Amino acid sequence: MTEAARPNTSFADTTLAHIVEMVRSRTALTRQELTDRTGLGRAVVRQRVDLAIDLGLAEESGIGASTGGRGPRLLRFRSESGRLALAALGPSRITVGVADLQGEILGRHTVDWEISHGPSKTLDEIVRTLRSELRHVLDKPVWGVGVGLPGPVEYVSGRPVAPPIMPGWNGFDVRGHLAVALDAPVWVDNDVNILALGERERLMTPEADNFMYVKVGTGIGAGLVSNGRIHRGADGAAGDIGHIAVAGSTTECRCGQIGCLEAIAGGWALVRDATDAARAGRSDILAGFLQNTDDLTLEHILQAMDAGDTYSTAAVAAAASTIGEALASTVSVFNPSLVIVGGDEVAFGEGFLARVREAVYRRSLPLATRNLQIVAPISDGHDGLRGAAALAAHEIFSRTLPDWVAEGTPVATLLAAQLS
Ligand SMILES: [Zn+2]
Repeated sequence: MTEAARPNTSFADTTLAHIVEMVRSRTALTRQELTDRTGLGRAVVRQRVDLAIDLGLAEESGIGASTGGRGPRLLRFRSESGRLALAALGPSRITVGVADLQGEILGRHTVDWEISHGPSKTLDEIVRTLRSELRHVLDKPVWGVGVGLPGPVEYVSGRPVAPPIMPGWNGFDVRGHLAVALDAPVWVDNDVNILALGERERLMTPEADNFMYVKVGTGIGAGLVSNGRIHRGADGAAGDIGHIAVAGSTTECRCGQIGCLEAIAGGWALVRDATDAARAGRSDILAGFLQNTDDLTLEHILQAMDAGDTYSTAAVAAAASTIGEALASTVSVFNPSLVIVGGDEVAFGEGFLARVREAVYRRSLPLATRNLQIVAPISDGHDGLRGAAALAAHEIFSRTLPDWVAEGTPVATLLAAQLS
């Protein structure tokens, strides 16, 4: 299924949508400001504002500053009219949340859950969590659902495509399953795009119009924000940098190819190599850890580094340089002003980030890096949910508002389009 063709919208609906969006984004807060900014006549603005109030989308909220005489009546968007249901899925954890229509997180709940349980059980767990743990904030109709998955997603259909760590999910209709269960329209994207959207919401600076969010965890991927919007590419595969080839490498990747970036520098590759090193007697500290556990983790490598283990320190430094060299190619193609490097490997510290940075600057053309900053994210632990809320709010208000605004709620129109 692809997204249905947009219905023709009337001038009345388009201008109503414009006015609602200006009030929602706080671009204009009085009838006079709406008249000035839209160029519409006073009578038209008055009529549309009355309609927005009748529809429950806006309300009057106090009196603004006066320029002589009585101050103007202020308008506000009623972000409490509906709710956004959100889910951020990881390999072994799900965070479910509820936000208001401005994306303010009202409640969240995290459960330990293996994504290898498959799509039906996992999505049912999300619905169950919303209806039990988050019932107290799910007290208004759900207007939209935003979901982040830890694997490639075909965005127009909301279906995962050959995700390497999600057995059973390939091609599953995640959107349709949740849309039916929650009776609301659903948007699904990969977790890195969701993190990039979350950062975009937080930053809202000129640098955040063209930036790249690189996640270096178990796998490696990037979300590209171009002119303020996610760049997904023709098939939703843009930014999948974990599988670009590193020259000279013959290491087999979990995707089946040879020499991928993440097969050398991803978290799973670091753990694989650390285990080999421990068994081969190249690291006494890692060998000690391996006596007390079945599997090493990135946390063990970090502890070994902190304890002065020369193998771990060298392995992490080499991974950082390899990641930086691969990023240099991407920076040359995309020319961002900001690269945010997030994910579990960032726990290796400022030394890790410094090596990534050094490799990017060394391997890029001066013009591409003249204004480039490479930084770690400022995480508050809500990034995935904030991004999922930004995704749903963007679809509801920035893309489709004229299609449904005359009904006062998007649910029927957008759900019909998604389930057709
Ligand atoms: Zn690969």
